[in-house]
Amino acid sequence: MTPVSTPPRVRFAPSPTGYLHLGGARTALFNWLWARKHGGQFILRVEDTDRERSTQESVQAIFESMLWLGLNWDEGPTVKAPDGTLVGGGKDGPYFQTERIDTYKRIADALIEKRLAYRCYCTKEDLDAARKAHAATGVKDAFRYPGTCRDRKDEPDRQHVVRFRAPETGVTGWDDLVKGRIEVPNSAQQDFVLVRGNGIPLYNFGAVADDLTMNVTLVARGDDHVVNTPPQLMMYQALGANIPQLAHLPMIQAPNGEKLSKRHAAVAVLDYRDNGYLPDGVLNYLARLGWSHGDQEIFSRAELIDLFGWEHVGSTAGKYDVKKFSHVQASHLRMLSDADLGVQALPFLAKRGLNVTADDARLTPTMALVKPRATTLSEVADAADYIFRDVLVFDEAARSKLLTKDAVPALTGLIDILKQADAFVAAPMEESVKAWSESSGIALKDIAQPARVALTGRKASPGLFDVMQILGRDVTLARLEAGLAFCQGAAT
Ligand code: GLU
Repeated sequence: MTPVSTPPRVRFAPSPTGYLHLGGARTALFNWLWARKHGGQFILRVEDTDRERSTQESVQAIFESMLWLGLNWDEGPTVKAPDGTLVGGGKDGPYFQTERIDTYKRIADALIEKRLAYRCYCTKEDLDAARKAHAATGVKDAFRYPGTCRDRKDEPDRQHVVRFRAPETGVTGWDDLVKGRIEVPNSAQQDFVLVRGNGIPLYNFGAVADDLTMNVTLVARGDDHVVNTPPQLMMYQALGANIPQLAHLPMIQAPNGEKLSKRHAAVAVLDYRDNGYLPDGVLNYLARLGWSHGDQEIFSRAELIDLFGWEHVGSTAGKYDVKKFSHVQASHLRMLSDADLGVQALPFLAKRGLNVTADDARLTPTMALVKPRATTLSEVADAADYIFRDVLVFDEAARSKLLTKDAVPALTGLIDILKQADAFVAAPMEESVKAWSESSGIALKDIAQPARVALTGRKASPGLFDVMQILGRDVTLARLEAGLAFCQGAAT
């Protein structure tokens, strides 16, 4: 079991240079689960120091994605959730790195003061020339900053960057909660830049300065950051600070083993929202992509919080599997009550131009009918469409195949039987129609197939008598009459 610093303080630190993708969401999820499991804090920190690539739209997309997933944060930007509650804030928030330049300067100055960092006055031209000279020697090793300014006279007012005085010997290592022991020789580092000439920190320094001042106890992030960890640990050591626990999560792979990207699947969290996935289903699937609890596949949010632990996070990449994702989604859909599903399906019905309200008496019984076969809310809305549509949309091929003059006796008889029904209830209607089918010699399927097209516009639907019950007497009879008229028209 992973020892817990109580209460843990964890963070999710996205760079707002694009939408929140599945990999980022999974990193956020694991951090969030750990905080919620142990009553700790989950901090959202927007790492917006790349001014050219950071955009306000990305910031919004990240907030929206996290709120939709229900990954609410305790500290960081204050944002209004869809239910109107305020998420984030905290006494020291909001956390945008560009608003924390003073903090970075203070820490960089302290490092310079202790000669653990130094001001470097080398210009781009100086460095280009040094790089060229290095290349000319034919040495294969990558160019490293030659330490020109290490012992140069300090001139704080002259244009400079701040460089870290990296140790040249020894080893930097850590026990990664996911990957185990990792060690890297210090000779692999150079005197890396902490702060640019314009005062903006580079990622490694900003992250350490923030994790330190925000008292982060555990850093979990994508394993593309393993290379950044040794320089970060050197900074902690230089600052005499406690090193947080570290967990590096393998990337999500496409089925063919490549890094998952837009070419393989939808990767933006908001695409899943827009396509009618349920947030709990997305979280469940993301959790299982890289974490396991025996053979269990389906987890509620509460179970994930209860069961999550770093020891069962896999050290190798999980592969995105669309079939499994659909299965998890469908399972979560079925866990919803019919009434809840109806409410969640409303915006997806509205997108189809169907103005249905939560108190529509047809809504809940329709959900009971379509739930067993749907995977997403979009599919639910599609399957429920004909119930709520005033003017049916027909599958033309089905209509011309099944609503023909041959169907006239079946539909005429069916209409007669239904007109006599005392109550418009599925089971007794089905019984009467079956009895009439036997006495008339018209096979049940020859009644049901044209009736289905006339009632739903489609050749497949849930139980026909259940559909009739929901549509009610007037709509059922009107649609059957229209179907019959079409058959008669087809007959002439
Ligand atoms: N801003 C970095 C990223 O988006 C965060 C890395 C970290 O968590 O330290 O990859």
